Amino acid sequence: MRTHIVLLGLPGVGKGTQGQRLSARMNIPFISSGDALRNELARHTEIAEEFEKYMNAGLLVPDDIVEEFIADMLAGYNLKKGFVFDGFPRTVHQAGFVNGYLASRNTAIDAVLYLVAPDEEIIKRISGRRVCPKCGAVYNIYFNPPKEDEKCDICGTKLVQRDDDKEEVVKNRIKVYKESTHPLVDYYNNLGLLYEINAVGTVDAVQNRIEAILNG
Ligand code: AMP
Repeated sequence: MRTHIVLLGLPGVGKGTQGQRLSARMNIPFISSGDALRNELARHTEIAEEFEKYMNAGLLVPDDIVEEFIADMLAGYNLKKGFVFDGFPRTVHQAGFVNGYLASRNTAIDAVLYLVAPDEEIIKRISGRRVCPKCGAVYNIYFNPPKEDEKCDICGTKLVQRDDDKEEVVKNRIKVYKESTHPLVDYYNNLGLLYEINAVGTVDAVQNRIEAILNG
């Protein structure tokens, strides 16, 4: 059973939704660099000033800044039983950094799940995405709506749309993904760690495909 997992794929392909489910089912931490960065912004911390402009423009935070942030973030987790990483590594440079960091903690990635869906599907998913600002749960008003209008099923907080889910920023994020993050597909394929998953279909159907691969 593979339990040391990286999620890879376009923004909006379902990494957060699937990652949170995997984490709950396998009892391993779900660790999202995007959530952690947004959390710093919400708290107006000193380091948030450094990366706010990149995030609001849909650009990647530069590797040197984000790698330090990732190391600090990971230091707070027990990674022994496994993990689900969402949103990092995002560049080949970050991938090298993460490998080195994990080695220093006597662990390593054993599966990279590459979630794939067509661009048109992605745009629809992102425009419908709503998140809970309190607990981080992710919904979609078309595909996975909350039980009660605009409210989180888990904690009842009013759901919001992420600033960078607005259309112009989304187009930029897709472009940046293709240029900077997509090369990781070859990188992890060469390491024998890559598993491609068809991410079209219901949340349950995609989850079943993921579990079949992790159990295999
Ligand atoms: P996400 O929620 O993963 O889509 O991340 C939202 C934004 O946070 C991205 O558009 C980037 O500006 C920034 N970000 C998150 N993770 C990383 C990363 N590993 N490297 C650089 N920037 C990141």
